[in-house]
Amino acid sequence: MPETMKLRSLAADVRAARSERGSSYTLRRQQLLGLKTMLLERGPEFEQALLTDLAKNPVESEITEIGFVLAEIDHALRHLRSWMRPRRSRPPMTLWPATARTVSDPLGAVLIISPWNYPLQLSLAPLVGALAAGNGVVLKPSEISPATSAAMALFIPQYLDAALVRVVEGGPSETTTLLDEQWDYIFYTGNETVARIISTAAARHLTPTTLELGGKSPTFVDGTANLAHVAKRLAWTKFVNAGQTCVAPDYVLVTPDAHDGLVAALESAVTDLFGTDPQASTDYGRIVSANHVSRLRAVMPRAGIAFGGQVDAKTKYIAPTAATGVKPSDPIMRDEIFGPILPILKVADSAEAIGFINSRPKPLALYVYSADRQVRRDFETQTSSGALDINVGLAHMSVPGLPFGGVGASGHGAYHGKRSFDTFSHAKAVLSKPLAPDTLSLIYPPYTAAKGRMARGLLRRLSR
Ligand code: NAD
Repeated sequence: MPETMKLRSLAADVRAARSERGSSYTLRRQQLLGLKTMLLERGPEFEQALLTDLAKNPVESEITEIGFVLAEIDHALRHLRSWMRPRRSRPPMTLWPATARTVSDPLGAVLIISPWNYPLQLSLAPLVGALAAGNGVVLKPSEISPATSAAMALFIPQYLDAALVRVVEGGPSETTTLLDEQWDYIFYTGNETVARIISTAAARHLTPTTLELGGKSPTFVDGTANLAHVAKRLAWTKFVNAGQTCVAPDYVLVTPDAHDGLVAALESAVTDLFGTDPQASTDYGRIVSANHVSRLRAVMPRAGIAFGGQVDAKTKYIAPTAATGVKPSDPIMRDEIFGPILPILKVADSAEAIGFINSRPKPLALYVYSADRQVRRDFETQTSSGALDINVGLAHMSVPGLPFGGVGASGHGAYHGKRSFDTFSHAKAVLSKPLAPDTLSLIYPPYTAAKGRMARGLLRRLSR
């Protein structure tokens, strides 16, 4: 059978496998344990693939990819039984006697489309949720991180039920074929342009989606914060994975009293992390492709480079860079940077920063470094973002109880922990009432005057 023909029936195939196998607790647990065993046994192969794709240091791969997914799996295994338990609700007295409960049903066939920047984490973390919820899954990882995609395509069928979970390698053409089919859910992580393609395809079948997108995540710093501590956190969150992180701080808004101190502290934080020559450091990653190097080179500020700025296209190296004196109209402030360049803009105060942030699309994350409680509260109540981290960055991702997702232009829907289970489940309402006594007859016609009085009085009170 030609490859595209095979792709054309994948939704139907995994849906059929799911129906055949059911969605018992035991099966779901088995799949999660299979995934866990795969990561434990094949960790070195995945680390090697991530090194090939992104020059990711194996320790960083452990922290941000393999370890991250293992934590998600363990959390799901610990709570799966309770998540699967139907939740009782109290029916109104007008329905008594009756029982009401919410049952979490699997959705059926789920398509997960993932990007290249954390290629393992962003493929497998949604997969944990989809499997915990009892679905059949097709995973389409990114063609831009081919080594990691190939490793997943090789190992997933060896450790999971190969009919229930399929991996399709390939790019836009394979994804387009997959999108022709009717899915029960599509979970997409990537850029906004492709998100529109996914949304349009999903709309043809009225398929619900989660869209995990990006955007420019701002950071605010004022003079009340300890700048050495801020710089260390800011430097790591910006330059980990060479800035190719969806929730990386995209730009900094800093008050005049903190500006010079922050820039100096950032430079020494970068030296602490990667030495005086980051290009020689095995702890510093590379840009994923030549196209992305060109894209970043084109927006590199021409003036005001505080440190960094070097580009070596041959080795896909871009130095950890900070630029000052950046204007909101500069090219670097137009689109998400998604690379190791940090523009720093002066604002008079937190009010100006809030105004600036609110005049732009809603970001995936917002970071506030301030010791002033009122300032922190103002950001919490006066801005909208997927997440708000105070005096820290990226860390909300690692709390399984917190939803991870965007708002507005940064996406919709959320996952991690129980949210993942809920995302990939249908919350089905189940109401059960004995046929006798037939208390419902009180609301049937004929609508007599007595029933009218009852509807306006007693029934109104009892149905609350
Ligand atoms: P990408 O190029 O790997 O694309 C993502 C997926 O879309 C891939 O699987 C790719 O094959 C598929 N795709 C690409 N073009 C397509 C097309 N024309 N039709 C159908 N499918 C297509 O990754 P990317 O988009 O460059 O990822 C980076 C973006 O993702 C950034 O904006 C980043 O902020 C965002 N992101 C968001 C999150 C999050 O969790 N919210 C995480 C990581 C990345």
